[in-house]
Amino acid sequence: MNLLRPDYIAQSLQEINLNILRQNGIQGIILDLDNTIIAWDSPRMQPEIVDWIKELLQQRYRICLLSNNMTQRVKHIADMLGVPYVPRACKPSKAGFRQAIAVLQLKPSEIAVVGDQLFTDVLGGNRLDLFTVWVAPLSANEFIGTKITRKIEKLTIRLLKARGLLK
Ligand SMILES: [Mg+2]
Repeated sequence: MNLLRPDYIAQSLQEINLNILRQNGIQGIILDLDNTIIAWDSPRMQPEIVDWIKELLQQRYRICLLSNNMTQRVKHIADMLGVPYVPRACKPSKAGFRQAIAVLQLKPSEIAVVGDQLFTDVLGGNRLDLFTVWVAPLSANEFIGTKITRKIEKLTIRLLKARGLLK
């Protein structure tokens, strides 16, 4: 149960308080792609999200994209942003996260995972003791599989709250 608990929750990327990341010693970010930085059915990123990522890079955060999606889509976005990437990650499996950690060349304690799904991003990040940040998904228009996952996520959040594990 605790493995599904995010360390930090934000309504959007822009609302992530960078002071909290800094206070936790975070220097690198493993960033999910679909529905975190781009709507899963969209070819284009919102300019304010591109700006947010550029700002992080300017502040010397290291960023690596980690996505379960196909190489081509991930590479396209990563190249546009000028950041490294790990595609076909099979999150929440540890292998992809380990690859991203190696790319960032940081200790796990210095890395945050930012993503929209409890069962891939947060679970995978927690399994490797990374600082996990759960953000609201960009698009409500999702695969059926993800829709079912969302329902389970809502239930999980209610349970975590009921047990006092989440504010
Ligand atoms: Mg996602």
